[in-house]
Amino acid sequence: MHRFLPLLILLFSFNTSALPRESLVPGGVALLPLEANSKDVAFEFRGRPVLRTEYAGQSYAVVGLPLSLKPGEHAIEGRIGPNQALIKKFFTVVDKQYTTQHITIKDKRKVNPEKRDYTRISSEAKRKKKAAADWTESRPDLNFLLPVDGIMTGSYGRRRVFNGQPRRPHSGMDIAAPKGTAIQAPADGVVIESGDFFFSGNMLYIQHGQGLITLYAHLDRIDVQIGEGIDKGQVIGTVGATGRVTGPHLHWSVGLNGTWVDPALFLSDDPGQ
Ligand code: ZN
Repeated sequence: MHRFLPLLILLFSFNTSALPRESLVPGGVALLPLEANSKDVAFEFRGRPVLRTEYAGQSYAVVGLPLSLKPGEHAIEGRIGPNQALIKKFFTVVDKQYTTQHITIKDKRKVNPEKRDYTRISSEAKRKKKAAADWTESRPDLNFLLPVDGIMTGSYGRRRVFNGQPRRPHSGMDIAAPKGTAIQAPADGVVIESGDFFFSGNMLYIQHGQGLITLYAHLDRIDVQIGEGIDKGQVIGTVGATGRVTGPHLHWSVGLNGTWVDPALFLSDDPGQ
């Protein structure tokens, strides 16, 4: 029994802190090891501050790769030393082909909004953009809980055709569950935005620290308020069918450095598709 104890302690310590899985594709995440002299450098990727974390005694920059990123060589940039010399950490992104999903929406206005809807849509777009780019210095817990148990019905990155018309690719993961199913926070954080949005229905955003943002859409009920501190595992609302939907499900997005990445990379067990 005792000879397994060190192993158990090791496994436990790995579980309390974690890294997302690396995926060097558009919509993925880059994990860039930082040497001792650069671990305190405030790196940026395409002008946005980048999350830094420690794992098993090693510092990493955790970089969100936009779905629109061109395959090829990219770099994060920072300034180091008294002369503020520019340093770059390079990485290579390879192409990924995402599949196409055809969706029929009964409420046609959610696919082809009326003229009077556009004022609301554009003001909501500004709020969403601001929330996605939010930043705090606190170090996030990267060992996420799955926010709701259910069936994965829409994976990240899929190209989508609504009622025969191409729309933006899917920026999150869809998890189908009965209306009223509790949604839990995957990690500690603060609610930074919330409301009833035209496409997303009842929606909220959580800042987990260092620009790691999670978003929950189409909720039936929102149980938390803007500015509220959230504990890991706390119920933040329930699954619903508000906004542009075909049925009750949670749309869950995970953001890093202002871009939405594949949420599956943050789950220890890839829920698959
Ligand atoms: Zn979705």
